Amino acid sequence: MSTTAKYIFVTGGVTSSLGKGIIAASLAKLLQAQGYRVTIQKLDPYINVDPGTLNPYEHGECYVTEDGAETDLDLGHYERFLNVPTSQANNVTTGRIYQSVIDKERKGEFLGKTVQVIPHITDEIKHRIQLLGKSGDYDIIITEIGGTVGDIESLPYIEAVRQLRWDLGDNNGIVIHLTLVPYLSAAGELKTKPTQHSVKTLMESGVMADILVCRTEHNLPGDLRRKLALFCNVREEAVIQSIDASTIYDVPNLMLKEGLDKVVLKKLALKSSAPDIKKWNQFLFKHKNPKTEITIGLIGKYVELQDSYKSILESFIHAGAANEVKVNIESIHSEYLNDDNIKLKLCHLDGVLVAPGFGERGVEGKINAVRYVRENNVPFLGICLGMQMAVIEFARNVVGIANANSTEMDPNTPNPIIDLMEDQKTITRKGGTMRLGAWDCELKSGSLMSKIYKNDIIRERHRHRYEFNGAYKAQMEAAGMLATGLNPDTGLVEIIEIPSHPWFVGVQYHPEYKSTVANPHPLFVAFIKAALAYYKNKKSAKVSKS
Ligand code: GLN
Repeated sequence: MSTTAKYIFVTGGVTSSLGKGIIAASLAKLLQAQGYRVTIQKLDPYINVDPGTLNPYEHGECYVTEDGAETDLDLGHYERFLNVPTSQANNVTTGRIYQSVIDKERKGEFLGKTVQVIPHITDEIKHRIQLLGKSGDYDIIITEIGGTVGDIESLPYIEAVRQLRWDLGDNNGIVIHLTLVPYLSAAGELKTKPTQHSVKTLMESGVMADILVCRTEHNLPGDLRRKLALFCNVREEAVIQSIDASTIYDVPNLMLKEGLDKVVLKKLALKSSAPDIKKWNQFLFKHKNPKTEITIGLIGKYVELQDSYKSILESFIHAGAANEVKVNIESIHSEYLNDDNIKLKLCHLDGVLVAPGFGERGVEGKINAVRYVRENNVPFLGICLGMQMAVIEFARNVVGIANANSTEMDPNTPNPIIDLMEDQKTITRKGGTMRLGAWDCELKSGSLMSKIYKNDIIRERHRHRYEFNGAYKAQMEAAGMLATGLNPDTGLVEIIEIPSHPWFVGVQYHPEYKSTVANPHPLFVAFIKAALAYYKNKKSAKVSKS
């Protein structure tokens, strides 16, 4: 079979949460920095067609691509590391695989044959894996197989990898197996047995690992590497240690030190050179050597989960480095915010971000938080639901529409200042039916946002069903909340600002999906800059008082 692109399959063993996504993204970064065009794909073994219908408690953040795909949060890491947009083709689930095979069966495309896991499901998996390779846009495709080797649900994927390696031939497809080398403190030893077993499990499916990446809390000594190589059929140089890092952004350098890129390129019969990661390291230096620190309140209802607001947290890291400031995030549960405690909970913050979300739980706390920051001139950024709450707060407390609400929270509100979008009203199916992906937005000249973006037209990603109800726009603008960004075709309000406030911005879209290491998002950079100014002001006011 002729192929131009080369394939790297990443499997996981022993336990979940070993960070396959970060290893894949770090390797991709090193290959990209040697001039290769690389993309990463994630295959998820669950039956949901996409993670769009999954609760953040189940699956963390749902990441949205330019083309409007609701995807796994690992795609966010891929974009943040590579600065190259992903698409629907970069995330495939078992649900989607079966859906397309069953659709084909209903259309009679299998000509009366019995439709089976092998070859029909595996053929569909192979087709999806090769879609990106066949586009001609990439030299190397890294395919991360979700789940852990040995899971029943990942078997068809492992089988597809076995077949593909055979189809692709030597040097065109390799397998990296990510595994855990636990440290038993009672014995004072690192243990290789779980890795030996998971490599064996992989071999039972006919797949040999070419490279082992071993997650570990301690350095792997040479004799342990030799033991792993001997028992797992890999060369010693292909036993790569992945030691716990203080930041995910260290991992490319750690992998470079271990020579992962070199072993990979050798196995793929590709040339290797010294990767140019100067810019990456400049970012890292700024991230690790901040000149001062500020604290931002992140107000949401999934704050106990690190993964629920992943892209927002990473955007703060990028924007912090750009401003040479450490951004401490204080996660605040909106459900527990009320009139009595709002000052206590927010008064020490240098900026407040009200998070995106769905449903009624915790919204009144978000509205309370917006009121506090608006009245106290604290820099504010509202994203999606956060922007909608800022609109409601202003309508209620400034314009005087006491019962203003969103029809998402109160379908019978007499003042639906946030209302279901017209084309959403007839939709009943849940999956993939929101307003999704990138849409144009026209910025009002002279607005804060046009200065931040240094542009008139921007394109940002969306995921919502409700919008600022245009019927209230004139009244709101007259009272001081301006709609400074509109969709040029529909007039949908994408951005609100309060010019009389030092820094008050709400956006219907999700800027966090587009912030990368190479391109920190201008809105986050500006927000952190404003928070830093607020912090410095506060500090100098204190000094002059004393
Ligand atoms: N629930 C709101 C809507 O659907 C906001 C969505 C969001 O924050 N992503 O419009």
